[in-house]
Amino acid sequence: MQNLPPLDRDNSSPNQNQNSEKNKIVWVESEDVYKPIPKSIEDFKSEREISNTKKEKVYIATIALKHLTEHLGSNTTVEQGGILFGNAYEDPRVGIYVEIKSAVAAPSTIGTGAHLEFTSDSWQGIMDYAKNTHPQENIVGWYHSHPNLGVFMSGTDMNTQRAFFHHPWCVSIVCDPVRREIAYFLGAKAEHVNVVEFGGGHTHKIFF
Ligand SMILES: [Zn+2]
Repeated sequence: MQNLPPLDRDNSSPNQNQNSEKNKIVWVESEDVYKPIPKSIEDFKSEREISNTKKEKVYIATIALKHLTEHLGSNTTVEQGGILFGNAYEDPRVGIYVEIKSAVAAPSTIGTGAHLEFTSDSWQGIMDYAKNTHPQENIVGWYHSHPNLGVFMSGTDMNTQRAFFHHPWCVSIVCDPVRREIAYFLGAKAEHVNVVEFGGGHTHKIFF
């Protein structure tokens, strides 16, 4: 893949606009820099009726988790994936934390196709699709399946994380719909993190 400019760079360089059409698209996106919303984690949790006292960094709505697992469980012969939408927040005592409100499937025409794994090129297309179809939403990460491989960040996955999801609020969800495992990774280094599910009237670890 090509070297993509960082999404959050705000200093213009003269030859930036002389690049290919593909890089121009990235440049336009980079002008729309997303910033976390200041909010105390106590307020965030009480607004969503989250009663547990843990101060985790990732929160997912039950409806998003349901869509994601149904999508990934619908075909266990290929990797499937999609984009996570939501908001990032910042509490000076906790740092940045993220709310995942919805999960949108990548069309199979943009995804892996005949390939086994998503590549960075696939994700460029998926990101463009997501932004075009959900212009009012904020992308906070991505998800994909590892059918019967277990849940971890592969080398390809780390490249995708660094290229497109390197902000500290970006989440990668990896799910194995065969073994029924799921894991959440946060930020450019894809740190393995715990999650709190909300909005379903219950909190649980079971996802199918
Ligand atoms: Zn993977």
